[in-house]
Amino acid sequence: MNKRNKTLKQLISFLNASPTPFHAVQQMTSCLVESGYKVLNEEDSWQLEAGGRYVVTRNDSSIIAWKMPQDRSLSESGFRMLGAHTDSPCLRVKPNPEVHKHGYYQLGVEVYGGVLLAPWFDRDLSLAGRVSFINDEGELVSALINFESPIAVIPSLAIHLDREANSGRAINAQTFLPPLLGQSDKKPDFRALLKVQLEKSGESVSRVLDYELSLYDTQSAALIGLEQEFLASARLDNLLSCFMGLEALLESDSGEGALLVCTDHEEVGSMSAAGAQGPMLEQLFERLQPDAESRSRMLARSMMISADNAHGIHPNFADKHDANHGPILNQGPVIKINANQRYATSDITSSKFRMLAALDSVPVQEFVVRSDMGCGSTIGPITSAEIGVKTLDIGVPQLAMHSIRELAGTEDLVNTIRVFNRFFELKQV
Ligand SMILES: [Zn+2]
Repeated sequence: MNKRNKTLKQLISFLNASPTPFHAVQQMTSCLVESGYKVLNEEDSWQLEAGGRYVVTRNDSSIIAWKMPQDRSLSESGFRMLGAHTDSPCLRVKPNPEVHKHGYYQLGVEVYGGVLLAPWFDRDLSLAGRVSFINDEGELVSALINFESPIAVIPSLAIHLDREANSGRAINAQTFLPPLLGQSDKKPDFRALLKVQLEKSGESVSRVLDYELSLYDTQSAALIGLEQEFLASARLDNLLSCFMGLEALLESDSGEGALLVCTDHEEVGSMSAAGAQGPMLEQLFERLQPDAESRSRMLARSMMISADNAHGIHPNFADKHDANHGPILNQGPVIKINANQRYATSDITSSKFRMLAALDSVPVQEFVVRSDMGCGSTIGPITSAEIGVKTLDIGVPQLAMHSIRELAGTEDLVNTIRVFNRFFELKQV
């Protein structure tokens, strides 16, 4: 199998195995450990070595992996940093979720982030996330859970019962979305269901207390198109960037400081202990370089690439883009620019990226939102403002952002990994 196909195969299994940020972080951690990274615990005191490779997680849903420079101090080497987010818009199970109507067992769900709701109907859904419980020894513990098989569905209302269905029907998140889990004569007990599922995977469970569980589509990620030009999957925004950053880091082989940070809660604003607006990265830097002057020198010699997917131009809705800034799938990674700092790109950081891309003849595109439309944002400006490091906002173009099944270009992935790899191997940023 050639390298391109091997990468796509690995990506597809990563996407399938990562239905939640918890699972994504678990997947990434095991890849890093396999490649010789050492897991550190934030509660312990650390002994770091020159050239050492380390990984730390927070809330099981955010992760930082980094390489210490081999021959220089951190304040001389700085960090080549790449940031992405582990979360994606989805439907979360409510704390008291049981709904029992007309003999159907349904779940109350809460909308997490900016979900495109319509594509969630008529999908073969499953449930995954983290559950906290008391075990047989009376200890409070938590474990990841994944039902894997399709156990839920949100059926559409037949068009015969709603003749307006194709002309812009609004979706009421409270009443339209509770999925069907089955049929039952008596009032269902969701925590009892979780207990059985946990016990199947070998846990001893006395009582389930709480959980963070999301619904997800069980359909596998797939290559689509006559020439398999496209990759279709849930959570491409932004597991794609997590994967590309991880691949590039694992392949990089310079003795300089390099760091990958993938945080949770971006889709809801990043304001949390584990989110990009929280102190996780800054606290890491304080541990690595306790002296303030050395830390400032290190950051001045560092650069961050904030990687998050960009809006490709949709041929059926082309007027949603500025005519000169409509990125096309498979025509290269997209530099995102916004005069109002919704993206953190500067001419200096974008030029650096163009230079790196040119080394492998990778084409580069640009995105600027239409001047009469509002602009999205990323962890780029947040991180840049928090730690004061020069930053670039970039991403592969995609369609159907925040749908349960998004679409990206296979060529872009392979190309972007090459540029990220060049970045991680830079002598100086
Ligand atoms: Zn995103």
